[in-house]
Amino acid sequence: MSDTAPWQARMPRSVLDLYCPSDHLVTTPTDRRMLWHLESELAVAATNDRLRRLASDLRRYLNDTCAHHWHEREAEAGIPAHRQCLWCSDVEWIGGETP
Ligand SMILES: [Zn+2]
Repeated sequence: MSDTAPWQARMPRSVLDLYCPSDHLVTTPTDRRMLWHLESELAVAATNDRLRRLASDLRRYLNDTCAHHWHEREAEAGIPAHRQCLWCSDVEWIGGETP
């Protein structure tokens, strides 16, 4: 991808798509989605303690302040029905069951 292309051309679907992989409308603001993208890239590319600490702090901040986008899952293969956040991966069990 050329550096002269618009920045949007280099973004993953998670930053700009109106719909999540399950075709639900995502209302999470682009700023917030860009932070999740930055966290994901930093988690892989941090090459020193300072950047690793920044990645860890950014992850904690995003987790602590997440406005969840839930995906509900039916019970299957021994895993009770639950919902999981697209962004922070938090899980909530539905119907009082836990694995
Ligand atoms: Zn969340």
